[in-house]
Amino acid sequence: MSSTPEFQHTLGKAAGFSGTSLHKGEKVTLKLHPAPVDHGIKFKRKDLQDEPTIDAKIDNLKMVERATTIGEGSVRVHTVEHVLASLFAMGVDNAIVEMDANEPPIGDGSAQPYVDVIKRAGVAAQEAPRKFFDVRESMHMEAKTGALLILLPDKTFRISCTQAGPNNRFTQFLSMEVTPAIFEREIAPARTFVYYEDVQSLMDKNLIKGGSLENAIVVRGDAVLSKEPLRFTDEFVRHKILDIIGDLALVGHRIHGHVVAVKPGHGANAELARAVAREQTRRDAISVPRTLPSGEGGFDTDEVMQILPHRYPFLMVDRIVGFEGETKCIGMKTVSINEPFFQGHFPGHPVMPGVMQVEAMAQVASILLFKLAKTSSRLGYFMSADEVKFRKPVFPGDTIFIHAELTKARGNRLAKAKCHCVVNDAVVSEGELMFTFLDR
Ligand SMILES: [Zn+2]
Repeated sequence: MSSTPEFQHTLGKAAGFSGTSLHKGEKVTLKLHPAPVDHGIKFKRKDLQDEPTIDAKIDNLKMVERATTIGEGSVRVHTVEHVLASLFAMGVDNAIVEMDANEPPIGDGSAQPYVDVIKRAGVAAQEAPRKFFDVRESMHMEAKTGALLILLPDKTFRISCTQAGPNNRFTQFLSMEVTPAIFEREIAPARTFVYYEDVQSLMDKNLIKGGSLENAIVVRGDAVLSKEPLRFTDEFVRHKILDIIGDLALVGHRIHGHVVAVKPGHGANAELARAVAREQTRRDAISVPRTLPSGEGGFDTDEVMQILPHRYPFLMVDRIVGFEGETKCIGMKTVSINEPFFQGHFPGHPVMPGVMQVEAMAQVASILLFKLAKTSSRLGYFMSADEVKFRKPVFPGDTIFIHAELTKARGNRLAKAKCHCVVNDAVVSEGELMFTFLDR
């Protein structure tokens, strides 16, 4: 990864265009506006009272049938994937997408009109770093449709996609890094394509009033029907990549990773976006300050030893990194090869015993209880440990961050704490501990 930080970007100025909406076949005007740092992409319904906005976030996903629909409360916007893909791929992190209908103009069924309007508005750097999701371990998603999506670690954002139609006709493969220049040249012009069998029923239900050969390629058997010739011999797989970019934009973070997609669709794309967002939330929850505060908020080793009666080799907390309110506390312990338990656990294959991690949790929870009681005249006794799980081995050289959260304090005799240990941003162990107090 480059060491120079990448900055967030917005639009240089507002710009827009008008066209027809796909599902209702009505005239709609779309206007893109600049937005401040950390705003993300929001859709604004100018046609509704109070002009409500909808966050382009996976939590707001409502429907993935044929197109991607997001909503908040009773307000919806449909077919958001092409405009989202364009903003995301052209490097726009923050923008308002204002519309006077419930979906953007469909244009020619490609992302070209959106790229054009973004280029007219210009893209401007802002004074805050971009947020990235770095894929650390592979993730995968499979759907009943046969869609398979795999996300692998990568320094860039790449997509390798295989598209296949009914009976594997129109099987196409394409792999590329997604940059603004590549997107504009290789992906944006690729149009929506539909299979005749599918659209026939939609036309019967009157669900695609704005649909025509003006804005989609229709595949009927082996025949390809469109207003103008194919723009690429593999235009279908390019459009699939466009949809993946648009659906993954709902993550809110830019992804450093390689998406390997086989027969992707909006449903599977959205599931992957949801999994990434969930993993990001988990990481946010366990992230700790990179630079350790000294004194301020935390306790150094001497202070820890004034509170805890434990001593080497049984002191399992080097220092307290900090407190969060009254009920949360993070401690840390650097595990050295010189820990006595490594000599026997196991010779030639040193792994920190799980029970020592539980002891570390208990000691951090004790410090939390001590701080809450503001006295050390009572001793907290460790009564029980429930729901203990050891998820990953801890090796010499690892730094453990020990999180404790007080979940229950019954009277002043009993207390419960939820704890987990984290190494390299991954939870290695967890458990719920119960304490009772006795006067010293
Ligand atoms: Zn599409």
